[in-house]
Amino acid sequence: MGKIKMETVKVNLGERSYNILITTGGIEKAGAELKSVIPDEKVLVISDSRVGPLYSEKVLESLRQADFDADDFIFNEGEDQKILFTVERIYSFLAEYNYPRQCTLAALGGGVTGDLTGFAAATYMRGVNFVQIPTTLLAMVDSSVGGKTGVNHRLSKNLIGAFYQPRLVFIDTDVLKTLAPEEFRSGLAEVIKYGMIADPELFLTLEDETGNLIAGNSSSLERIIKRCCEIKAEIVSRDERESGVRAILNFGHTVGHAIEALTNYHKYRHGEAVAIGMIAAARIAVKIGMLDDMQSQRLWNLLKQAKLPYRFSALDPADIIERMKKDKKVRSGRIRLVLPKKIGEVEIRDDVPEKTLLEVLEEMQGEK
Ligand code: NAD
Repeated sequence: MGKIKMETVKVNLGERSYNILITTGGIEKAGAELKSVIPDEKVLVISDSRVGPLYSEKVLESLRQADFDADDFIFNEGEDQKILFTVERIYSFLAEYNYPRQCTLAALGGGVTGDLTGFAAATYMRGVNFVQIPTTLLAMVDSSVGGKTGVNHRLSKNLIGAFYQPRLVFIDTDVLKTLAPEEFRSGLAEVIKYGMIADPELFLTLEDETGNLIAGNSSSLERIIKRCCEIKAEIVSRDERESGVRAILNFGHTVGHAIEALTNYHKYRHGEAVAIGMIAAARIAVKIGMLDDMQSQRLWNLLKQAKLPYRFSALDPADIIERMKKDKKVRSGRIRLVLPKKIGEVEIRDDVPEKTLLEVLEEMQGEK
C-alpha cells in the first residue's frame, strides 16, 4: 500500500479532545487509525441502506485487519429514521450480541447516521466509545464534529439528544464521488456559512472554486473541508455546549429551521433551507444598516453559483415568524438572529423589529 497523505485537525476539549483525520482515498486506513485511539475489541459499524452497501465492507475489512472484532448494522436511509425506534433496534442488536461496556460504535454515513449512532453510543450502558466516519459533505464539515447527537420526536426535530464527543473523526473525501449532486450542494451551504461567519479568505476561495466543486473536479476540496473543520473545531473548543460563541454556527439556521419545519422536512434539504436563511439574515442586516449591500450581493451570487435556493414559495412569512418563535434557541420570547456585519464576521442580535423580518421574508417569496 502506498503512503497515504493525511491531514489532522485537533478538537481541543481537555480529556475529551480528539483528532479529525482527513484523507483522499485512504478509507482502508480507518482501522489502523481507530486502533491507535480505541482500546476496545468489538466495533459495530452503523450505516444506512444507501451507504452500507457502498462502503461498509471496506471499513469492516480495514477494522478486521487492525484486529478488531467488527460487524455492521444497517437501517433504512432517510431523515424519518432518525427516531428512537431505530436507536432501540441498535440497543437490541448490541444486547443480543453481547456488546460489552468496552465497545465502540462507528457511524459510517451522513448526519442522520452520525446523530443517531452518537446518541446510541451516549446511552448504551451509560456510554460507550464513538467514532465518526462521515460520508456526506454536510457531515464532514459540520455534523460529525462537535458532539451534538440525537434523534427527532414527532413534535420536534432533534428534540431528544446528548452532547457526546467522538474519539475520532475519519474523513475520506473520495466517498463524496457517489454522493448525489443535490446532497453535495446542500453541504456546500454549510461550507459557505463558514466563510460568512469566520473566514473571508475561504469565501474568496469559494467564489473562485464553486463551479469546479459542483462539477466534481476541484483540487481544493480537501483543503476546503479541512478549513471548515478547523473553524468548527475552534468554535466548539471555546464553547462546547453552546452557551456563547457556538451560537454563531446557527447563521442562516433560525429562518432555515422554520422553513424546514413548515414544509415537514420534505421540500427543502437542510442546506437548501439554510441557504434561504442566510439570504434572509443578510438582507435583514442590510436593512438595519449593519451590512453593506455589495457584500449581501456576493453571498447571493455565491449561493446562486452553488445552485442553492435563495427564495421560497408557498409559505406565509407570518407563519415562518411564528415558527421561529418556537425555536429551541429562542430566549424569553425574543427571536435571536445571527446577522453578518461583513463577510467573515457575524453578530448575534435579538433586537430586530418583527416588522423588518416580515418585510424581508415578504420580499423573498418567489417561484424557486
Ligand atoms: P443523510 O445522513 O440523510 O444523508 C443524505 C443522503 O445521502 C442519504 O440518502 C444517504 O444515504 C446518502 N449518502 C450519504 N453518504 C453517501 C455517499 N458517500 N454516497 C452516496 N450516498 C450517500 O443527511 P445529511 O445531509 O448528511 O445530514 C442531515 C442530518 O444531519 C439532519 O438530521 C440534521 O439534523 C443533522 N445535523 C446534525 C448536526 C450536528 O451537529 N449533529 C449538524 C447539522 C446537521
